[in-house]
Amino acid sequence: MQSTAPKATTKTQNFWNPMAHPGDPASRNFIQIVKGDGNYVQTAAGDWLVDGVGGLWNVNVGHNRQEVKDAIRAQLDELEYFQIFDGCSHPRVHELADRLVEMTQPEGMTKAMFSSGGSDAVETALKIARQYWKAVGQSQRYKFISLKQGYHGVHFGGASVNGNTVFRTSYEPMLPGCIHIDTPWLYRNPWNCEDPEELGHLCAKQLEAEILFQGPDTVAAFIAEPVQGAGGVIVPPANYWPLVRQVCDKYGVLLIADEVVTGFGRSGSMFGVRGWGVKADIQCFAKGINSGYIPLGATLVNERISSAIEGCQSFTGAVMHGYTYSGHPVACAAALASLKIVEQENLPQNAAVQGELLKRKLEHALLDFPAVGEIRGKGLMIAIDLVANKETREPIDPTNGYANRLAAVTMREGAIVRPVGTKIILSPTLTLTETEVDKLTLALKIAFQEVKA
Ligand code: PLP
Repeated sequence: MQSTAPKATTKTQNFWNPMAHPGDPASRNFIQIVKGDGNYVQTAAGDWLVDGVGGLWNVNVGHNRQEVKDAIRAQLDELEYFQIFDGCSHPRVHELADRLVEMTQPEGMTKAMFSSGGSDAVETALKIARQYWKAVGQSQRYKFISLKQGYHGVHFGGASVNGNTVFRTSYEPMLPGCIHIDTPWLYRNPWNCEDPEELGHLCAKQLEAEILFQGPDTVAAFIAEPVQGAGGVIVPPANYWPLVRQVCDKYGVLLIADEVVTGFGRSGSMFGVRGWGVKADIQCFAKGINSGYIPLGATLVNERISSAIEGCQSFTGAVMHGYTYSGHPVACAAALASLKIVEQENLPQNAAVQGELLKRKLEHALLDFPAVGEIRGKGLMIAIDLVANKETREPIDPTNGYANRLAAVTMREGAIVRPVGTKIILSPTLTLTETEVDKLTLALKIAFQEVKA
């Protein structure tokens, strides 16, 4: 077997990588990325690689976009920072809030709250959901229901509703009243259900059963990603979100769409919920909101919530939540420039077209390998599910390093993909072209030919 050593390493040890064991020697082999341009990034060794991970699901408009850099520079010259507490504001935060409310008009969003990233946006959503119920006099509604494969960031709220226990166990106890139910996952589900429509009904029924079991008047909200990302790119059946909306409406439960990954085109429509023809009560955004050029998160609420909170006559209506960097002017300027590109270049459509092409080409190139169980995705969110047994769909042993070795060879062959336990995940820039689709496919094919499970 050829070497799978990364091309560039450094021994600097004065920070810890997120989601890694700092005592693991493997975590000291940093792949230093020193430059980005379009759909590519360059390593310290000088190699240009296809950015198959889009930074981290977020560089939607591609690297090194002049329009975004110009907007950032202009904003720095005008006003680098001022707060939006104490009745203050600045032009960019008004412009971005107006822009977001306008863009989400079909979803009925009316107000925006800003923060610095996805975990913040989720934390804001969970707190506002509880505040809403207090504002309308139902303070006993405090519970959150979420999905077992869901990922909602790392703050205590988000980690409490995260599905995978790896994000919780070292930090417990978590928030009380967080309940996890089954994910609408066709490839692996507890019913062994192979029919998408039936699975959609089974999962929506489980949500209803859980709401009834908990007591509808105790449940604040159901939170989920329109397409689950970090949990392994799980695309729900088409009837799932409409059924979930119906169940939430039946019991008055708020529906929170965590669009941190799906927002602004990644799943092939401008918003994930739009792809399912559904409106949520709260939408959480980050990542693609400004393509990662400057940290930014946003949480939008609909009329039901904004009117209840604005109309609340007591202090309960005061939004005692916000961050020093809420509405950071430079981050807002980057968002305005990035969103302009997303719309002008119709990147949601490009994500849909290139995503379908990439999925088809990957299936053609990889499905015959014994370790490839399934290739699934929507838009430019794609996962290769690695199995020990194709028949039983038993996943590979996540501790044997197979996904990491595959990713290392893929990198040697010119493309970055993300090994996540038993999956390889692809979330490239939304400006992807067929040239990069082919490079990603070829690099992965060579990796599967070379690395044995
Ligand atoms: N929500 C979802 C759906 C995510 O995928 C992520 C991050 O990947 C987050 C929340 C947390 O975002 P951040 O890492 O910016 O805090």
